[in-house]
Amino acid sequence: MACLSTPAILLRRIEFGDYDLIVTLFTRAQGKTSAIAKSAKKSVKRFPGVLEPFSRLNVVLARGRGKGMPVLQEASLEDPFFKIRESIVKTAYASYWMELIYLWMAEGEPQEPLYRLMLHVLEALNSGETPVEVLSILFQMRFLSLAGFRPNFDHCHACKTCLDQIRHASVFSDPAKGGIVCPSCGIPANGLLKISKGTLKQLMWTDSGGLERAARVRFTPTAVAEGLTFLESFVPFHIGKRPKSLKVLRNIRQVVNKKTNMSKGYQPP
Ligand SMILES: [Zn+2]
Repeated sequence: MACLSTPAILLRRIEFGDYDLIVTLFTRAQGKTSAIAKSAKKSVKRFPGVLEPFSRLNVVLARGRGKGMPVLQEASLEDPFFKIRESIVKTAYASYWMELIYLWMAEGEPQEPLYRLMLHVLEALNSGETPVEVLSILFQMRFLSLAGFRPNFDHCHACKTCLDQIRHASVFSDPAKGGIVCPSCGIPANGLLKISKGTLKQLMWTDSGGLERAARVRFTPTAVAEGLTFLESFVPFHIGKRPKSLKVLRNIRQVVNKKTNMSKGYQPP
């Protein structure tokens, strides 16, 4: 029986029979890996408080000779990211990021740069130094690049006019063409999202240089709103699946924004 010891992030867990759990891990060594955690459901001593979503773990997986699922032999908790769990907003964002990875990744393909990105945004979300919205923009922009879906913001995909040469202040996103279309070529009635050129430049900054520096890009409130709307449509389009957690995230964000506006004395129209 071959054993593998690797750092991992827990992406999801489901119950399996009366005693066991099936966990899907994002392992540093082998990418997405599902494993069976025997007696994890019945015995609290087996993996005490360890197998929770987003937790950073060190795991030992054993694989038998056949093609069966690996067995989770050991799991030690490196960081539970408690402060993510304490906040419903942070939990909603982290759940969305986890689901994107879960839906996109194939089993058994190492994705070390993506693993480092995931760890970076979870650590930053836990520490609270960077606004959650900026982290979500940073994560999704870098995820698109690493997954091979980097959007082309350099020029209108139809007439090839460079972004700086487009006369209008805003353009339209066109996920099916992998980029943007200028107002002269785009038809707003097609459901294309409007996005300002300023927002596009800020999005591009988050996708270059080190992660620490990219997380310090200062977004205007308009750029945050436009950036999130754009990415939360562009990313699911390219992975070809609609994450269930995105609906939850949007609902929670709407409630929180409403409360914030009310406490500021803002009267919604
Ligand atoms: Zn054009």
